[in-house]
Amino acid sequence: MKQTQSFNAEIKKLLDLMIHSLYSNKEIFLRELISNASDAMDKLKFEVLTNHQLVRPDHKYEVRLEPNKTDGTLKIIDSGIGMNKEEVVEYIGTIARSGTQKYHQLSQEMKNKPELIGQFGVGFYSSFMVAEKVILHTQKAGTNMGVVWESQGDGTYSIDEVPRPEGVGTTITLKLKKFQEEDHVADFSDEWTLKSLVKKYSDFISYPVVMKTKVAIPETATEENKEPQYKDEDQTLNSMKALWLRPAHEIKPEEYSEFYKHISHDWSEPIKTVHYKAEGTIEFTSLLFVPEKKPWNYQYRDTEYGLSLYVKKVFIMSDCKDLLPPHLRFVKGLIDSSDLSLNVSREILQQDRQVQLIKKNVVNKIYSSLKELLTQSRDKYELFWKEFGSTLKEGVANDVTAKDKIQDLLLFTTSTQDKLSTLDEYIVRMKPEQKDIYFITGENMTQIKNTPYMEKLNEKGYEVLLCVDPVDEWVMNSLSTYKDKKLQSITRNDLNLDTEEEKKKKEEENKSLKERFLPLIDKMKTFLNENIKDVVISDRLSSTPACLVSAANDPSANMERLMSRMGGEFNMPRTKRILELNLKHPLFESMINKNEEEQKTWSEILYNQALLNEGSDLPDPARFSKQISDLMARM
Ligand code: ADP
Repeated sequence: MKQTQSFNAEIKKLLDLMIHSLYSNKEIFLRELISNASDAMDKLKFEVLTNHQLVRPDHKYEVRLEPNKTDGTLKIIDSGIGMNKEEVVEYIGTIARSGTQKYHQLSQEMKNKPELIGQFGVGFYSSFMVAEKVILHTQKAGTNMGVVWESQGDGTYSIDEVPRPEGVGTTITLKLKKFQEEDHVADFSDEWTLKSLVKKYSDFISYPVVMKTKVAIPETATEENKEPQYKDEDQTLNSMKALWLRPAHEIKPEEYSEFYKHISHDWSEPIKTVHYKAEGTIEFTSLLFVPEKKPWNYQYRDTEYGLSLYVKKVFIMSDCKDLLPPHLRFVKGLIDSSDLSLNVSREILQQDRQVQLIKKNVVNKIYSSLKELLTQSRDKYELFWKEFGSTLKEGVANDVTAKDKIQDLLLFTTSTQDKLSTLDEYIVRMKPEQKDIYFITGENMTQIKNTPYMEKLNEKGYEVLLCVDPVDEWVMNSLSTYKDKKLQSITRNDLNLDTEEEKKKKEEENKSLKERFLPLIDKMKTFLNENIKDVVISDRLSSTPACLVSAANDPSANMERLMSRMGGEFNMPRTKRILELNLKHPLFESMINKNEEEQKTWSEILYNQALLNEGSDLPDPARFSKQISDLMARM
């Protein structure tokens, strides 16, 4: 029975954007639909490997284009795996893949920048850019009932169960929109247009894309009747050559780019293409792409991995997690191996030694390609870094074997530069007497740029790496050294900024300070005993009276905040920190003369200010404000 249903709100908006899209490159809908058809045939072919009964022995894997100029329609017909009713509703009726937030964010911008539409990889829906009505008739392999889905993109669709005369596969019928001449949109029911679009976008598709074409019957052109008679004949429009098996020097950049768009469902150009053949102990061909932009649903952990596995040109599987570590999940492309068996399953892959060797080789190639991008096209590398830097960084923390490779690829914002720097670039700028590489982790740039922890380092002209990515906390801890230089957090108590000479001099100076202030320091220790480990004289502050630092093996304040935000088992009890005092600050001179009650209040205020400076929440903000206003009232 025919049912009418509403699209969910996101799809409605998306469709609306498609229908009214000013995106000029409307012809790409054909690439998207042919891509879907080819994916569906890949899936069916893979199923048939283990279930021969699924299709008839003479099943023809092909995509058919059937234009009809008179009706103004175009049909795209495939003999792929098809969909059952649930799948149609799930894949076509809702945006199943989460990511609505990103969508909302982009939909506003899209009004001015129609090309952003490409970021959604909304393949099927792109047909609404050229069609006023779309009818999908599909039948899933292994079933004998078909499903008809129909929509005018107006907020609703209808769905009905009708057997598909051709059996397994999918037919998409587009009732083409009538464009005005000044819109400069091609006629998609025109044979010649379709031929050139297939050549342009889908030449490498590994199944024939077929169209019935009128061909002249030669002997019918006679002396008196110059016009020959025509007959309809199937013509294959694409060369079907597996792009990755052709020699790299013969492949044009556009060909790589179209191939990338086919496999990634991305509409923009890749930022880096790597095509190579591994020879020696293990043989395989690999075609890899680094995208320019994150796919719109990328922030989710279950993002599909981009590598597909082929064995001797036969598609085995997409989303092959055994070929890439998680921190390289942004890479798209494929591996074609002639050494693996066609029957490999996901389970076998995990243990396969060949696969492990391939993975190692591919991963190293990706690192070296990124290094090449970094050294040869810094601008592009920085674009890449902006999108995928935090993903790549995960490798430092999670994969010991990756650390050595990734550390050279890291970029940092620093306290003295207005551009990003590598660790090597930082080292070149280090002061002659500077021993360590300094860094600070925190939540945002404003917070850490103005932090009092930086005072002394700024005075000395020492550069500090400013790390505000949540993953940085783990990255910096795992890195610990780079080229024999220690990575030193400037919020830890073991920060050792002075030279031996300076230390001696300071000790002399501090001697008298210490003697004067020791009783006060001891009292402060008692007042704040519940909250802190120790009170010591600071040598990192110059204008701020006090700050909190973590003991060398304790978690940093930022780490504690990150963990508690993750909640549950990650929630760690607050570790007591060390309160450092800058006794040269005039307030301590006044404090020493106050009565004990007041000294207690002042200690609390100083502690709370130090908490604010490290970016932490106050345990009792109301009490703190009251203490401050009481103090002001007495001025
Ligand atoms: P994408 O191709 O980027 O996943 P689409 O909106 O184009 O997004 O398609 C959504 C899903 O619908 C596909 O992932 C696939 O499962 C299914 N689908 C689309 N077209 C076909 C087809 N011709 N045959 C079988 N399944 C299809």
